[in-house]
Amino acid sequence: MVADINPFESLQSQIDDAAAHLDIGDDVIERLKHPERVLETNLTVELDDGELERFKAFRSQFNGDRGPYKGGIRYHPNVSRDEVKALSGWMVYKCAIVDIPYGGGKGGIIVDPDEYSVSELERLTRSFATELRPLIGVDRDIPAPDVNTGQREMNWIKDTYETLENTTEPGVITGKNIASGGSEGRVEATGRSTVIAAREAFDYLDKDLEGATVAVQGYGNAGWIAAKLIDEMGATVVAASDSSGGIYNPDGFDPVAVRGHKNETGSVVGYEESVEEVTNEDVLTMDVDLLIPAALENAIDRDLATDVTADVISEAANGPLTPEADEVLRKRDTFVIPDILANAGGVTVSYFEWVQNRQRFSWSEQRVNDELETLIVDAFDALVDTYETYDLDNPRTAAYVVAVDRVANAYEEAGSFP
Ligand code: GLU
Repeated sequence: MVADINPFESLQSQIDDAAAHLDIGDDVIERLKHPERVLETNLTVELDDGELERFKAFRSQFNGDRGPYKGGIRYHPNVSRDEVKALSGWMVYKCAIVDIPYGGGKGGIIVDPDEYSVSELERLTRSFATELRPLIGVDRDIPAPDVNTGQREMNWIKDTYETLENTTEPGVITGKNIASGGSEGRVEATGRSTVIAAREAFDYLDKDLEGATVAVQGYGNAGWIAAKLIDEMGATVVAASDSSGGIYNPDGFDPVAVRGHKNETGSVVGYEESVEEVTNEDVLTMDVDLLIPAALENAIDRDLATDVTADVISEAANGPLTPEADEVLRKRDTFVIPDILANAGGVTVSYFEWVQNRQRFSWSEQRVNDELETLIVDAFDALVDTYETYDLDNPRTAAYVVAVDRVANAYEEAGSFP
């Protein structure tokens, strides 16, 4: 991971790359490159030993031209104001490429959750929810899970909001447990879109997914589900890693057993079917047909990109390639399915959850997966259409051309006010 690449600058350069192909004024593009507002707050939380601790937290509302702000909340020691701004901007263009009626937002707390008890995390989460209460709402800003947060945190935020507002409003947040108003298929959705997009890319490139080799960097919720689903599609997962290291077996692993090992021991490392323990970097540069980066941003920088040999990359993580790495891979004809499309399944099923909450009705898992399939395939088709029509050489630029155009249209139709 390269620390000196600012993800907010990466986002802005991605928008500029697309703007060069669009007939949109610089003044409008300028608006689309900056968040509308960012909350920075200090949460003071009582620890189990009675001491108080201060935690810095953020919520960036990047753009609301297409609908309420939408995006997750991350708990990580490296959370920063610029990271949250970048992630909130990526949400805007992610919701636009899959054409769901949302803008983009993102939140984060600077915290390593592994160092705190469940009750401390609950107090921290409820404290953040209390700070967020004036900003969020079912038609205003709808948070969701992100790195190191999940159903548990979403349930706490929902409960805090509903208690303070004296109402029932499950659609104020998505990614909840089913009993708290969550949707079937939401937990798997990010990994599912990552592999649907990969399948479409293989098809487009006339490559066979059956028997293709796959490396997965990051074995959290997005990475491991992607590994499981791509295995079910007939590909072979030969390498996997997490923050402790990686494993490799040229004959492939059972992705579910690897996850079982990680659940038991805390890491994929030490999995008995591994013939070789490898580093995270080895996994990213392995000679495979498909690479799925599923950890954090800036995983692949320019130097590492020169060693990447995969033919297709499906970005389950947000921002895993620096712009310079993107440039290296573009020149090498690596087909990179950008994060804003590849991992859009998460927010897409969040949208379905929100729709179900508003309908006070539940869809079957089959219906969720079918509707997800349709939206991701439609988005991929829109990307390819633009890629070819504009004769582009980077699928990411194609995705941004589609997405930036949609957001700019919404803004220009409404006009500027106040
Ligand atoms: N955190 C996820 C993302 O980056 C999901 C956001 C959501 O469901 O709103 O796309």
